[in-house]
Amino acid sequence: MDHHHTANPSHAATPTCWTVVVPGPFFGGFTYHFDLDAGPAPGVRVRVPFGQSERVAVVIEPASAEGEQETRPILEVLDEAPLLDDRTLACLRWAAAYYHHPLGEVVFAALPKALRGERRLEVEALVSTPAGRAALEVGEAKGERQREALSRLVASAGPAPVAKLGPAAVRRRLVEKGWAEPTRMTAPAEWSVPVEPGSEAAPALNAEQQGAVDAIVSAGEGFRAWLLHGVTGSGKTEVYLALIERELAAGRQVLVVVPEISLTPQLIDRFARRLSVRPAVLHSGLADGERLAAWRAVAAGTAGLVIGTRSAAFVPLARPGLIVVDEEHDAALKQQEGFLYHARDVLVWRARQLAIPILLGSATPSLESLRHAWDGRYGHLRLTERASGATMPAIHCLDVRGQTMVAGLSPALLRAIERHLLAGGQVMLYLNRRGYAPSLVCHACGFVAGCPHCDAFLTWHRQIGRLRCHHCGFEQGVPADCPSCQAPLSVRGMGTEQLEDVLAARFPGFGIVRLDRDATAGKGVMADSLARIARGEARLVVGTQMLVKGHDFPGVTLVGVVNADQALFASDFRGPERFAQSLLQVAGRAGRAERPGEVLVQTHDPEHPVLRRLLSEDYEAVMAAQLVEREQAELPPTRFAGLIRADAPQADAARGFLAGIADQLRERFGDELAVWGPVPAPLARRAGRYRFQLLLLAQVRSTLHRALWAVDDSVGSRRLGGRLRWSIDVDPIDL
Ligand code: ADP
Ligand code: ZN
Repeated sequence: MDHHHTANPSHAATPTCWTVVVPGPFFGGFTYHFDLDAGPAPGVRVRVPFGQSERVAVVIEPASAEGEQETRPILEVLDEAPLLDDRTLACLRWAAAYYHHPLGEVVFAALPKALRGERRLEVEALVSTPAGRAALEVGEAKGERQREALSRLVASAGPAPVAKLGPAAVRRRLVEKGWAEPTRMTAPAEWSVPVEPGSEAAPALNAEQQGAVDAIVSAGEGFRAWLLHGVTGSGKTEVYLALIERELAAGRQVLVVVPEISLTPQLIDRFARRLSVRPAVLHSGLADGERLAAWRAVAAGTAGLVIGTRSAAFVPLARPGLIVVDEEHDAALKQQEGFLYHARDVLVWRARQLAIPILLGSATPSLESLRHAWDGRYGHLRLTERASGATMPAIHCLDVRGQTMVAGLSPALLRAIERHLLAGGQVMLYLNRRGYAPSLVCHACGFVAGCPHCDAFLTWHRQIGRLRCHHCGFEQGVPADCPSCQAPLSVRGMGTEQLEDVLAARFPGFGIVRLDRDATAGKGVMADSLARIARGEARLVVGTQMLVKGHDFPGVTLVGVVNADQALFASDFRGPERFAQSLLQVAGRAGRAERPGEVLVQTHDPEHPVLRRLLSEDYEAVMAAQLVEREQAELPPTRFAGLIRADAPQADAARGFLAGIADQLRERFGDELAVWGPVPAPLARRAGRYRFQLLLLAQVRSTLHRALWAVDDSVGSRRLGGRLRWSIDVDPIDL
């Protein structure tokens, strides 16, 4: 490298310094110098010496050389133009600070995988020479293919990628004749748009839909967050479509984020049928090359509409107009490993930064968003009826106390299943399994084991056969008899597989499909299962959380909720909220077509206030009551929460580490900060490591962040001696 060459001799003595980041557990950036004239810029990748080796880094900002020890040089600039624009970089810096995560990790997570290494975006290209342009003018190029290649090259008024210039032999001739010269260029970020207009006409919006569209349109440009609370089947997607159409027509981009990959195909189809665009798709199921092409087209502004899962929250937008987050309540919008961000919250921040509206849609909005809407911070739009004219299904409770159960199904539910099958309907059985630590419920009287010290239910830890309080750490063995009615207690596990077997034996010939993470793990299995349900080949559907996710099953007339109590009596304070959401979502799968739907909920506590309010279909009333409870218990969203997790091969190491932090924080912050724990994590032992957690709750957001920074400062690295690991989760959703 030539260290003496510089464009500006007066600054020859002071090389320009740059802060760069690399992936890894480093909280700060690293300073390097660069003293060639074609310097790097924020957002480009560079190759730098790092320790004994070399790394790919991303440039963040110019740095001052003052006070720096001798800096090492940037070895090579890998991109001609920044991959991340200033606004995206600012968003990533905010996200790293807010979520207390290393900036390098955040920045590299935002890049498509294909760009996390040294891969260059350059391609081989040709550029026309004056002789070439003259040759074209006088018609010197003889062969048709030569003439075509040459005219295309001249028309591009600069270099053109060889891929666009015909076969290699033709291109070689152009160079041999002196009409073109080989060069290299950044591959253009192209995105083909179908010439065909959308094949499907929009339905006339009903009054509520039109009202929602009008409200957003008349608020004009600029930042505004809107909550679109529309019951299942109320036509939220039509509202999105109407707004998307407007934005695209105005030449602005729309980013639509959904919680699940499995929801993207139906949305893409629907958008493609209705709009004359090819949506760019961003999710982890794509090949690296496909994802790269889509990402670049969005960043360059050549793709107008982008649909993606949570990681799309960080895609650069060249001409942003609108952001839509569908199923905004869904926990899948929160990343649960590594960089623990919530895509919805990041997008609200981004919409404000980009000064554009954001629309959060759900049939069962999160308490966080509802509270903003009730307080007037978000515009509140309601769709209260199904757009197709279908009625909402009726929800009833089945009291299962003392009933003889078959694989967790009560006689009443079994009779209902039979009735619906014989009447030609489809039946869906929902088993609440994932995400909840189970509680201990007496089948005879409905007694639930609670903590003697807290207003909380105890969690049954299967592996160790004990009950535990997740708030204070209280622990006891599983009693043999119910403390309330003295009936013998038996704790049984129940799974979708067992349910499937029993149903297949009991209702042979009706076809059965199981939808859970295990059953749909293989490629294409999910789509296949959904198709079998759609064709009516499978009349019985058994599944977990997966059933809840926005799929449309028009033939389903009965939904059975097998174990409501798991969620109602969960130790997680969000249990009732989650239950209300999944119940209404799964209920929303029933009766989408002509036949009215029925929903039966099995419970040991039919008088539970959450259930009773849900039966009357008043989701907002359920959530308003939840908010009062949260306020009283000083929990989110009325408090700002941060969770510190630690795990180690020895329980004492993890617990002791968190206990030390807890003492330090209690002393320093006093009443400003509530510190709960350390307690064992819901999954207390995983892969031979003991897991503990410490919950921090503050009335003021900045207090929480000051506390977390204090922890970062005093602990330093995230990897400590004794193989202890720890992490910070801001706004945790699983406790
Ligand atoms: P959501 O997104 O709220 O679940 P959808 O937008 O999928 O609801 O609409 C549910 C069904 O109602 C779809 O079949 C859709 O085509 C239909 N639909 C939506 N809006 C209208 C309307 N204004 N007129 C007639 N049908 C509509
Ligand atoms: Zn307790």
